Amino acid sequence: MELRSGPLPQEAFDVAIVGAGAVGCATARGLSRRGSRSIVLEAGPDVGAGTSKANTAILHTGFDAKPGTAEARLVARGYELLSEYAAETGIPTAQLGALMVAWNAEQRDALATVEAKARENGYQDARSVEIEELYAREPSLGPGAQGALEIPGEGIVCPFTATLAFATEALASGCELALNAEVTGVRSNGGVHVLETARGPVRAQHVVNAAGLRSDEIDAIFGHSEFRVTPRRGELIVFDKLARGLVNHVLLPVPTEKTKGVLISPTVYGNVLLGPTADDIDDKTDRSTTAAGLAALIEAGGRIMPRLVEHEVTATYVGLRAATQDRDYQLVARPDQNYVCTGGIRSTGITASLAIAEWVGEAMADAGLSLGPRPVSAGVRMPNIGEFGSRPYQDDEQIRRVPDYGRIVCFCERVTRGEIDAALRGPIPPADADGLRRRTRALMGRCQGFYCGAEIAAALEARNGD
Ligand SMILES: Cc1cc2nc3c(=O)[nH]c(=O)nc-3n(C[C@H](O)[C@H](O)[C@H](O)COP(=O)(O)OP(=O)(O)OC[C@H]3O[C@@H](n4cnc5c(N)ncnc54)[C@H](O)[C@@H]3O)c2cc1C
Repeated sequence: MELRSGPLPQEAFDVAIVGAGAVGCATARGLSRRGSRSIVLEAGPDVGAGTSKANTAILHTGFDAKPGTAEARLVARGYELLSEYAAETGIPTAQLGALMVAWNAEQRDALATVEAKARENGYQDARSVEIEELYAREPSLGPGAQGALEIPGEGIVCPFTATLAFATEALASGCELALNAEVTGVRSNGGVHVLETARGPVRAQHVVNAAGLRSDEIDAIFGHSEFRVTPRRGELIVFDKLARGLVNHVLLPVPTEKTKGVLISPTVYGNVLLGPTADDIDDKTDRSTTAAGLAALIEAGGRIMPRLVEHEVTATYVGLRAATQDRDYQLVARPDQNYVCTGGIRSTGITASLAIAEWVGEAMADAGLSLGPRPVSAGVRMPNIGEFGSRPYQDDEQIRRVPDYGRIVCFCERVTRGEIDAALRGPIPPADADGLRRRTRALMGRCQGFYCGAEIAAALEARNGD
């Protein structure tokens, strides 16, 4: 239906979803497509601006998840659902395949355990790779690899477009979206929840908690304290596009108990990522990089691929995983309260988002929410901001129809004025330059906005003045 800018409606919604990250937006899409009257309440000024924008952007098969967990099941299902949905809607993805590389005898021995775990998770395609083949396929890999496992299904995805596509389809299916509407409390009144928000009260029969790092706080508002979120900081380095030719696959380390470790991966935008670190911190808002973290990444990257770390760094960033005391998602349906918690979605939530949404739909139907039997697709098609398909500046037909698609504003990332205008006029327009970056790639290149910053600031200002 719409992005709510004025007062929030006072009639009761079927469902209020707290949080507009990948999980909240996928849930909103799932419920709205089945006819529920829903509203998403987001504390920030945009969708997808929490952990869903700052991650490693791997489309995981789930081969290395802990067997038997909700995460193992939902990542595998989410992989299928998101792969299919990405093809339908134009979310940039690429199935590059991963190579898990062992650098000592202990890690080499552990590869057999990883392969067995993959099979236990229902993933049958992992296979060991001889050293000669490994170096033939990744000639820039540093010396000393002792063994490797290939996971051909692993891919990369654009997390920005994924979350936006979910939100766009949710709105097209009748969902409402209230930004700058932090939920601060709840009262329950005659079977209806009254959520206190920064923009006034919102009434809903059911509530879904998709508040990411703050999912434990929303759970506490509903009277529960079974889990606590500890932000786990992951620092990442983005290398210049000139480094892209060095890397052909997602290069994974052998994981440890605590983390999947530092990987090297191409991005769908044509850069190369190195990271993430894994450090538990106290502050859920601390997204600063650290000298020690970046130095550790450069050291690890220098061992895995010495030539990579000689390249220029385009950007660094931090993502905060919503880690809890359990190594699994915190998925709890409380039908007695008409409340569902999707908390602690730590390291794999972009991949699992559509499967988590599917689970929420089932849980809510069990709790008595009336949902249509079959989802109705709103047929959303997203602008391509990836490097694998054609971009507007390459599309003569599009330029003929709208000449501004031929006028490049951001030369590093080849973003045109037509794309910027389309994003500013879109159903969920960006609130700021960062939002525009996630919708178009403008400002994301090596010059960091030196060339296009002024024109983009003027475009945002002109829109704000409208
Ligand atoms: C370093 C790192 C690497 C990762 N790599 C991958 C990967 O390769 N592949 C993958 O699939 N996943 C990966 N992930 C995990 C993935 O990013 C997360 O699981 C996913 O983004 C979680 O989505 P979410 O919607 O639960 O949380 P978020 O995206 O954080 O969204 C939660 C939203 O809730 C809002 N909110 C919070 N409190 C309130 C409130 N009181 N009222 C209203 N709104 C509120 C927040 O503002 C936020 O927008 C990685 C994560 C990190 C940190």
